[in-house]
Amino acid sequence: LVSRDFHPAPTVVRVGSVNLGDGFPPVVMAGPCSIESQEQILEAARQVKEAGAHILRGGAFKPRTGPHTFQGLGAQGLEFLHVAAREVGLPAVTEVMRIEQLEMACRHVDMLQIGARNMQNFDLLKEIGRLRFPVLLKRGLSATVEEFLSAAEYIVAEGNDQVVLCERGIRTFETATRNTLDLSVIPLVQSLSHLPIIVDPSHATGRRFLVPVMARAALVAGANGLMVEVHPAPEKALCDGAQSLTGEGFCRLMHELRFLQECL
Ligand code: PEP
Ligand code: MN
Repeated sequence: LVSRDFHPAPTVVRVGSVNLGDGFPPVVMAGPCSIESQEQILEAARQVKEAGAHILRGGAFKPRTGPHTFQGLGAQGLEFLHVAAREVGLPAVTEVMRIEQLEMACRHVDMLQIGARNMQNFDLLKEIGRLRFPVLLKRGLSATVEEFLSAAEYIVAEGNDQVVLCERGIRTFETATRNTLDLSVIPLVQSLSHLPIIVDPSHATGRRFLVPVMARAALVAGANGLMVEVHPAPEKALCDGAQSLTGEGFCRLMHELRFLQECL
């Protein structure tokens, strides 16, 4: 069902009033890794809106590697995200890890995110497939293209075709970057599937200075959008500060992207 053989025309995914997919300019999702307080997410929301982002991101349920690190604000975080998104007038996306979180998340945001660690959480995929709700499916840490598209198939097979894929880097032998950004999957996936695909240069690199250049490279490779981590004070971030752009850094990136789009 996710194959171009079955459905030759590109799928357009509608998130709030934003159209993501073929024929529309690249959609930029931006915001902090984690929602930390009402003030923090509001400030981040104002910064990314001002810079020209289309969708606000923020994590309330965090899939952290270790159990002793910040795990996210949970339901309270969803409330804060909802308030911030409404305040600036942007749709919002947030990660869900369990089926029980779906109902509450759907009431607070416009798009659900399935993180890399849950790409093969098949029960979660099936349940989200039964919803009529946009979903961002991130590539698993070591997932092949076939496994990635098969995960999307689980969602679409249940009736939900509002799926956006996200390349966020894969695990390789290289440790100088957090992951290895696989830009070749953009044209590859676009040749195989009608679903839109975006790139997350933040988790792909783990290093702030690499984010803007990889964001530009992603658009050159044909990505339908980007997801970028932005924090008002990255040095104080409770999660992923090293890869987060400041509001100012993100604003610069958005200028570069607008210039680049004119050349593409
Ligand atoms: C995230 O987007 O906050 C995240 C945890 O990303 P990933 O699932 O790609 O690691
Ligand atoms: Mn993060």
